[in-house]
Amino acid sequence: MGGVVEVEQSVTAAGVPDRHRVAVVGGGASGVLTALQLLSSTGDSSLAVTVHEATGVLGRGIAYGTSDPRHLLNVRARHMSAYADVPSDLLDWAVRAGRDPDPLGFLPRMEFAAYLQDTLAGVADHRLTISAGRVDDIVPVPGGFEVRTRDRSTSAATVVLAHGNQRPQPLTELAGLPGHLADPWDLAAIRALPGDATVVIVGTGLTAIDTAITLLEDEPRRRAVMVSRHGLLPHAHIEQQSTAWVSHVPEGPLTADGIAAFVRGQVEAARSQGVDWRNVVDGLRPQTQSIWRRLDLEQRRRFLAAHARDWEVRRHRMAPEVADRIRGYLRDGRLTLAAGGVGGVDEVGGLAELVLPDLRDRVLADAVVNCTGPLTDISRSGEPLLQALQARGLIVPDPLRLGLDSTPAGEVLGADGTVVPGLYAVGPPRKGTLWESTAIPEIRTQAAEVARAVLARKLAPELAANV
Ligand SMILES: Cc1cc2nc3c(=O)[nH]c(=O)nc-3n(C[C@H](O)[C@H](O)[C@H](O)COP(=O)(O)OP(=O)(O)OC[C@H]3O[C@@H](n4cnc5c(N)ncnc54)[C@H](O)[C@@H]3O)c2cc1C
Repeated sequence: MGGVVEVEQSVTAAGVPDRHRVAVVGGGASGVLTALQLLSSTGDSSLAVTVHEATGVLGRGIAYGTSDPRHLLNVRARHMSAYADVPSDLLDWAVRAGRDPDPLGFLPRMEFAAYLQDTLAGVADHRLTISAGRVDDIVPVPGGFEVRTRDRSTSAATVVLAHGNQRPQPLTELAGLPGHLADPWDLAAIRALPGDATVVIVGTGLTAIDTAITLLEDEPRRRAVMVSRHGLLPHAHIEQQSTAWVSHVPEGPLTADGIAAFVRGQVEAARSQGVDWRNVVDGLRPQTQSIWRRLDLEQRRRFLAAHARDWEVRRHRMAPEVADRIRGYLRDGRLTLAAGGVGGVDEVGGLAELVLPDLRDRVLADAVVNCTGPLTDISRSGEPLLQALQARGLIVPDPLRLGLDSTPAGEVLGADGTVVPGLYAVGPPRKGTLWESTAIPEIRTQAAEVARAVLARKLAPELAANV
């Protein structure tokens, strides 16, 4: 299923005046949804959109590039449409592809990549170019930017950064240890481990859950220990209740502790009426960005330190089938959950020996997988593009180091604190500004808003005079 958009080039955009050119850097979900919005919002044949994708294959990125069909979406199918105003779009696609999808169910994530590819293919025409290659620099030039890869340089009046999630921050204490797997999304390395391997998974979030499934599901003799400081697993989705719960967040100044107390109060109130806490969390989702923006920097810091973990494990939940698998591994003793983090590591006879304060015995592991979550502090990123953009003052980390600094509308802020004209961002890099900025329901809205801004800019007379 899924007509793969894997072309090196569709139609070249040569000859089109620069001001019509838009470069989208990154062809994961954020880049594809942005291209989709640009192409479907206007029939203007002078528009030229180039999506630069390091792997050359669109729609996958980290989340949907998984090769394990048991890695499911963590959002119900009816909320994963590419278009906010056509909620049935993914379900309609699945039916066309011969499936019988449950609107309240959770599709395999790899199918979502096929959906994005097919949906983009449905609007793609001569205006779309797919450029395979990693962009390693973007240079401001009169009227726009030069977008550089190792062997090519193209110009664009507008650039949308959609480079997505980064690999986890390296765990320096594990560097050099035997069996250290720094990239949790390299499933081939996990599959290649011995059939009786003992593996320590550092992290207990959704990526750790994926790793446990790929590791344990087909190899009954393998064992895993999942460890994090708090030892909390994501909660599970349950059968959806029809009772929506709308919380009216109080007017006036907000504090992190105040909003946490408010949510607890709402959960209590919902419970007293027989409504599950999940409905409270889901009901708050449309307001989360505005709540975040009402917290000042100090209060956002307080939220991160005191409440973010509790929120994240409730907000980003496992599909019920996934939760069943994990419960099964725990019950069978093949998976152990430990809090307290990693106390120490050593190398013993070619294996990694770990001290986990929560467990009585040391763990002798064939492999240790870093599932601590995507690195968000761009100042610590080894990505050539992010380093180059910071060196040029075109991007800076946001004050909380959750991504890059931007306006709520997605305009990128440079080192001098002002908007860099023509430079936008979509997706996870906007987390510092919006908090809720990593899942499809938010990304598709951002993609539509940025596409509107880009198209309005294309028509702006001052830009036309510029080129
Ligand atoms: C494991 C996992 C599971 C998730 N599951 C869900 C889910 O079920 N539902 C949901 O709504 N959200 C989910 N998310 C959230 C996820 O962040 C978004 O849904 C979405 O996939 C983000 O897409 P993206 O394109 O911004 O980032 P990414 O998926 O990281 O894709 C970025 C793309 O840009 C390319 N790229 C990066 N830098 C460059 C460069 N310099 N030059 C060229 N190309 C470049 C990369 O190769 C990659 O293809 C999940 C996230 C993860 C990590």
